[in-house]
Amino acid sequence: MGDIEEQSSHTPGDWGFETRAVHAGQDPDAASGAVVTPITLSTTFAQDGVGNHKGFEYSRSGNPTRAALEACVASLEQARHGFAFASGLAAEDNVLRVLHQGDRILLGNDAYGGTFRLISKVWEPLGFPWSAVDLTDVDALAADWPADTKMVWLETPTNPLLTCIDIEAIAELAHARGAIVVVDNTFATPYLQQPLTLGADIVVHSATKYLGGHSDVVGGFVALNDDTLADRIRFTQNAAGAIAAPFDCYLVLRGVKTLAVRMERHCANARAVVDLLLGHPAVDRVLYPQLPDHPGHRAAAKQMRDFGGMVSFTLRDGYGRSAEANALEVVRHTEIFTLAESLGAVESLIEHPGQMTHASAAGSPLQVPAALVRLSVGIESAADLVADLAQALDRLR
Ligand SMILES: *Cc1c(COP(=O)(O)O)cnc(C)c1O
Repeated sequence: MGDIEEQSSHTPGDWGFETRAVHAGQDPDAASGAVVTPITLSTTFAQDGVGNHKGFEYSRSGNPTRAALEACVASLEQARHGFAFASGLAAEDNVLRVLHQGDRILLGNDAYGGTFRLISKVWEPLGFPWSAVDLTDVDALAADWPADTKMVWLETPTNPLLTCIDIEAIAELAHARGAIVVVDNTFATPYLQQPLTLGADIVVHSATKYLGGHSDVVGGFVALNDDTLADRIRFTQNAAGAIAAPFDCYLVLRGVKTLAVRMERHCANARAVVDLLLGHPAVDRVLYPQLPDHPGHRAAAKQMRDFGGMVSFTLRDGYGRSAEANALEVVRHTEIFTLAESLGAVESLIEHPGQMTHASAAGSPLQVPAALVRLSVGIESAADLVADLAQALDRLR
């Protein structure tokens, strides 16, 4: 399953991104003419004779709704193969299974907390060494490259500091040293950045975020071109069984149809919010890849279509409080921005990474600043979002 050329006649390579988002892998249903991909709940599929079936036998191994999603998102990532999983972390866990015991993983030092936990608490005890490294400095990395490295795991933009990594430069270095490159493309989405076209070997997603886009489904995705690695992932997807359920696949497919238009609004609203933050006296630093002084602005400008919907900022000490206390005050007092973990959906969210999403990284090289606030800027009216943040910041006085 998951090979786009096998799934559908409806995926010509010359269609634009938006057309593929709506149609790739999603021919009208042959039996009924249904325009929307049906949710196929059947766990088993009839065979005319032993081994003679219509491409599906048992729903863990392959399911028509999942196959549609796999073909669609693979097509958006310019990938030959796509695999849908029960969560982003399930997808990551399956990708790590291409390694052999003793293979080292280099993890960007500003990674999603759950990825850090998976690698350090699940995989390291099984005999997989890893190091947290600064992926922004390619020369330093080349000079200090651990010889047993077999995989570089990078996010760009990173979570939550929104650092951007030059995928092409890292891929060139890693390939010269015999390692593969995995890019977590959750923050950028294939609309803004397509890592496989920049030399990455594997793309992973938390489909829970922008792909789903509506905060109502947990899912994960793996996209890649290499046939041998794809065989391995297809095998572990079935053998370990962390598949995406048919209803979840339907929800992600539905979300992906509007990915392009949502991303455009996320980016435009993020810019409006950044303008407010840059001018506010309570704010210390604004982290957004479009800002020329932002670490990795050059990488972002080179490889992204636009700069995304995530914005982070730090507060200053002042008004009788520490910077961290000011950050905690701001996240409590927004009305439209909901205080919650997660990101990438239509509604705006605000959170304190140090005590929420990145609490598990405390004391590690991936610890985040205590005064940091992260925004997932939604698709509401820009003026309302700006006014909401302004009133929360003004309350600090
Ligand atoms: C949320 C997230 C994940 C994990 O995905 P789940 O769907 O929550 O398992 C991985 N990477 C990034 C960048 C994320 O934001």
